[in-house]
Amino acid sequence: MAHSISLAQGRPYLAIPGPSVMPDAVLTAMHRPTPNIYAGELVEMMPGLMEDLKKVARTKHHAAMYIGNGHAGWEAALCNVIMPGDKVLVPATGHFGISWGEMAKALGAEVELIDFGRNSPIQMDRIAEILEADKAHEIRAVLGVHVDTSSSVRNDLAALRGVLDAAGHPALLMADCIASMGCDRFEVDTWGVDIAVTASQKGLMVPPGLAFVFFNDRAAEARARLPRVSRYWDWTQRANGVELFEYHCGTAPTQHLYGLRAALDMIHNEGMEHIWQRHAVLAEAVWAACEAWSQKGSFAINIADRSHRSHAVTALRLQSPQATELRNWVEQNLGLTLGIGLGMAAPGDPARDGFFRLGHMGHVNGHMIMGMLGGIEAGLSALNIERGSGALDAAAAVIGGAV
Ligand SMILES: *Cc1c(COP(=O)(O)O)cnc(C)c1O
Repeated sequence: MAHSISLAQGRPYLAIPGPSVMPDAVLTAMHRPTPNIYAGELVEMMPGLMEDLKKVARTKHHAAMYIGNGHAGWEAALCNVIMPGDKVLVPATGHFGISWGEMAKALGAEVELIDFGRNSPIQMDRIAEILEADKAHEIRAVLGVHVDTSSSVRNDLAALRGVLDAAGHPALLMADCIASMGCDRFEVDTWGVDIAVTASQKGLMVPPGLAFVFFNDRAAEARARLPRVSRYWDWTQRANGVELFEYHCGTAPTQHLYGLRAALDMIHNEGMEHIWQRHAVLAEAVWAACEAWSQKGSFAINIADRSHRSHAVTALRLQSPQATELRNWVEQNLGLTLGIGLGMAAPGDPARDGFFRLGHMGHVNGHMIMGMLGGIEAGLSALNIERGSGALDAAAAVIGGAV
């Protein structure tokens, strides 16, 4: 070709698994003068925000909000029910499960880590054995990550509840649904989740900075067992706020709350069932393309079984360093940013450049997904990366067939 030109000008597309694409309605809602925190609209808005958040989580119980990211939510949840010396069971299926377990350990918990690797979900029979062997009920909590964003595995947390019940074990079921709330079906009450942790910047479509912890009465009783919980992390006052500062243990995250209000309006106008279905169809389109690409060459999907895949993130592999080359190419030439591989190889290990991830969470629709897949096809083609054919046709057939 005579010319070499970047085609990156135009609206960029950040297709990483969080922070996700922010809707204009959210950004516009946040772009305002700082509101009064002592009276008026913001103060009046707060109870409704909490109620609408609970509807996203499908819970009628309690909710606490924190100014912080997902890690803050993890710590908040742990601090309210786990004391130094308490035993915690961590069935890990990727980087995030392991990290949550490490946080519990740093807080003084005795952590039993069961590592199921990076390519498969939690094996419930292994967990059943451990719980049944724990006759003294020393295990206080099981930390289950619903979707581990690093491996893109989706675990069956309702089944994990079933395992606890079958063993007659009183441990709390604590769930990380940071990558799945607002994307994959997640039902706190029906699934028997005692504590659920999420954050604003993934399916909830609000910039990073808010963490949410949902908890039921069993969890509140476990909180009451603790002699003290640091005032800042204690969920009691936050979940029973009357004054605005009580919800936040200080100044409210003013503009974020307006962004959250706009996001919750979008979410409930669309409806949870529709949101889950939209993510399922768009994920199926992504899988159809990836399965076609993986027919030839080194292209591979991390989670082989569709029924164990997240609907919001897809972890992929190419021969190193092709994944990094592809990410660089689509970013520089198309304005499309794909996610790096996470927790799949140690820092400094050249194998790292063989992993990448696609984020398809939150504010995404048919043309964005087709655009992302088309961009990847263009990159694979430009870089002469061997792959199977028919990826875009396969994705288009899923999307065309669904509407
Ligand atoms: C993003 C994510 C986290 C961490 O959230 P931060 O906001 O980066 O602290 C934890 N767990 C899962 C499953 C995630 O996707």
